[in-house]
Amino acid sequence: MALAEPFEIARGVQTESETVIVELTHEGMTGVGAAAPSAHYGETTATVEAVLPRLFEVLPEDPHEIDAAHTAMDRVVNDNPAAKAAVDIAMHDLVAKLHNLPLYRYLGLDATETPTSSFTVGLAETGEMARKAEAAVEAGYEILKVKLGTDRDVEIIETLAETVPDARLRVDANEAWTPKEAIRTCRALDGLVEFVEQPVPAEHPTGMARVTEQSPLPIAADESLVAPADVPAVAEIADVANVKLMKCGGIRPAIATFHAARAHGLETMLGCMIESNASIAAGVQLAPLLDYADLDGSLLLADGADPFDGPPVPALDPTGVVGTGARRN
Ligand SMILES: [Mg+2]
Repeated sequence: MALAEPFEIARGVQTESETVIVELTHEGMTGVGAAAPSAHYGETTATVEAVLPRLFEVLPEDPHEIDAAHTAMDRVVNDNPAAKAAVDIAMHDLVAKLHNLPLYRYLGLDATETPTSSFTVGLAETGEMARKAEAAVEAGYEILKVKLGTDRDVEIIETLAETVPDARLRVDANEAWTPKEAIRTCRALDGLVEFVEQPVPAEHPTGMARVTEQSPLPIAADESLVAPADVPAVAEIADVANVKLMKCGGIRPAIATFHAARAHGLETMLGCMIESNASIAAGVQLAPLLDYADLDGSLLLADGADPFDGPPVPALDPTGVVGTGARRN
């Protein structure tokens, strides 16, 4: 799927996003899921396509047995969370459809209050980022997540704060800073942004802990948090847990991560890769579990590139659909 514009973060530039769609059928009903593999977590479309047949082979006959499916998948294949997420999402979509319910109701969640998604502004020249921020606000996005990791990070945020004074700003450094730079930048951004995501490399947890201790702004862990088992360690070094279906292996592990995060005093956030609505729609169904949402992954795709329609963003409304709400367009 082509992106509307090249998307740049501290680690590099992306112009395309590859997705593997999974469809599971049971009693005449079809559930849909998708994998958006990330090389950062060791997956590509080739690894997903290689692994999927082995996962399909061990799936239980009854699609309600989602826990058993995860146990079986983990037994035959280590890691490969995006491939497992595609299967997990398709199973959830299928089961909710068999019960003629929106997925959040099948999961027993309360949709009366859901957060609004942020819209991501990728790295570019400062003026270009201000232009993108302005266009996003004009299009109705009131929360912007701004990618940083340059030698002009404070200037970028000061410029955006002036250009779109009513927008709520969050920033994501994607591991670009040293702890010293991170503490200095967080202090400079105090009062301008709501929180700072992944200021330092995940391989440097003591540095992350130091930043969280000395930053006046809350710190969110993204690259530092992959699986539910990471939560206790992350709670020692950050304030917000940024979960992604493609990092943790789907809806089931994501729910486990949210509950573990809450129990350890972390706020919860659901992020995404650049993804098809086939998987973004699953994230929207989990909105009731979130303090923060960053589910704009399908908005960065070129018009017509996504084979699926999904729920409207940025307001995350899981109601009024059956299953996840992803529909082939
Ligand atoms: Mg991030």
